[in-house]
Amino acid sequence: MDSFNTKAVHGEKLPTSIRSKVTPIYQTSVFSFDSLEELEGYYNGNSPYLYTRAGNPNSDELASVTARLEGAPAGVAASSGLGAIMAAVLAVAKSGDHLVAARDVYGGTFFTLKEELARMGIETTFIDFEDELAIESAIRSNTVILYTESVTNPFLRIENLERLAGIAKKHSLVFIVDNTFATPYFVQPYALGADIIVHSATKYIGGHSDVSAGVLCGKEQYVDAARSRIVNIGLNLSPFESWLACRGAKTIGLRMQRQSENAQKAAEWLKTHSKVKNVFYPASLSDKGNGAIVTIHLAEESDEFAFFRSLGWIQIVPSLAGVETSVSWPFGTSHRSLSQAEKTAVGVSEKTVRISIGIEDAEDIINQLNKALDKA
Ligand SMILES: *Cc1c(COP(=O)(O)O)cnc(C)c1O
Repeated sequence: MDSFNTKAVHGEKLPTSIRSKVTPIYQTSVFSFDSLEELEGYYNGNSPYLYTRAGNPNSDELASVTARLEGAPAGVAASSGLGAIMAAVLAVAKSGDHLVAARDVYGGTFFTLKEELARMGIETTFIDFEDELAIESAIRSNTVILYTESVTNPFLRIENLERLAGIAKKHSLVFIVDNTFATPYFVQPYALGADIIVHSATKYIGGHSDVSAGVLCGKEQYVDAARSRIVNIGLNLSPFESWLACRGAKTIGLRMQRQSENAQKAAEWLKTHSKVKNVFYPASLSDKGNGAIVTIHLAEESDEFAFFRSLGWIQIVPSLAGVETSVSWPFGTSHRSLSQAEKTAVGVSEKTVRISIGIEDAEDIINQLNKALDKA
């Protein structure tokens, strides 16, 4: 008979006949084997899981749902959006290589490409991607990646992915597209020629502001190489975070539909307010809607501190994509690490407000924004 501590540790094995409706959380760091033959089976490809850093059913589920939604053949999950971006870039680039990236990429991406990759001997040239001639002339013999976002932050410029895919193909570059803002509900870059699609699943794929996660998908050869980086560097996503992101992903269609309807109404209303100088909201992102982010410049004479103080239940959060409407201040958060010159080049000022529209009732969102604008 086992003693106390042994009894505490060795519970009954669950019968394999238990069939839970949703995927359980495989909260385990490692998987067990009944025999050396079975262990050998892992290395022969007969059994999928050995060690969670190398693969876990929950992170695989997140990868496969994202790849399915994106119409891409393969995917892999990563610890965060930046983890996925690093894995995608390092799947292709090595020391001595060069990237051409859009100047207005997400602030964290800009900093990572500029600083962290430079430390690894990978240089990035940032270009205004509206200028295709400038892109072509920035491409060198050691350029290996063309990097952009399908919809940019915070001014929601819609990238012409097909044209860029053509440039990438012409110069044999791997075309990486961050599809976080657009989501696969509105835009599917793979069909437009992207080789790798990266996501911060922290945003719309998770959708509930309760998980930091990343995922990338695309051509199998690149996804396989990215998986190797993730496993070897330790950029894997935990089982629980994967499970949460998968739960969120189930409702992405419903959320995006509702949030973009609300955003459309809010954008139209904001254009009529005297305290709003400019409204940035895409006119034709997709035939399903134009996304859930609306960015504004407050009027020059407005008081942004008063605006941010008067938002009621709209929270100030330096992120986006939850089911609650929230606002962020790019000047002091996502674009904080940019120099003043870089901020000016991108167009971010103290008056810039990015609004992430939620699933509330549109008239209530507009009422809350109206109260804050009246105080601004
Ligand atoms: C948030 C974000 C990232 C970074 O994702 P994390 O999950 O915070 O690492 C990258 N790209 C875009 C467009 C983002 O919005």
